[in-house]
Amino acid sequence: MSDKTQGGAACEYEGKDFGANYTDSCCIDGYLWDLDSCDEPGGPLLAGGDLPCPKCNALEYLEQAKEEAESCASGSVAGSGGGFAYTGESIWLAAVRKAESLNPDGAAAALQKLGVVETLVPGDGPDGCTVHRYIYYGEGETNE
Ligand SMILES: [Zn+2]
Repeated sequence: MSDKTQGGAACEYEGKDFGANYTDSCCIDGYLWDLDSCDEPGGPLLAGGDLPCPKCNALEYLEQAKEEAESCASGSVAGSGGGFAYTGESIWLAAVRKAESLNPDGAAAALQKLGVVETLVPGDGPDGCTVHRYIYYGEGETNE
């Protein structure tokens, strides 16, 4: 048990963030850990700690998604169900949707802070990609 009070109440986020089609992640102090990385029932989790939690750590979660969305035009994930393709833009929109559904206030504050996100999609640009820009700052700034 830790005495950390950072972030207020304990976050009870659980999700499917490590590729399984069942709940395989949990939040510990703002970062996600892989529930499948445990050797014995009740033992410590061995893998994780790198992914910010979309619920209680929305800013870092969205910062990481922004970085990914701005550096990757497209890709695909192989999976048992045939996998799926993604673009920088789809990574970003999925991350925003997730953060907003789990933590609307935290997500809104994080988006304000990030301001502009230039997601990449395959296109006619010089590097074979086009920028789709999302602008978040401005709203609510005059709210006193
Ligand atoms: Zn959390």
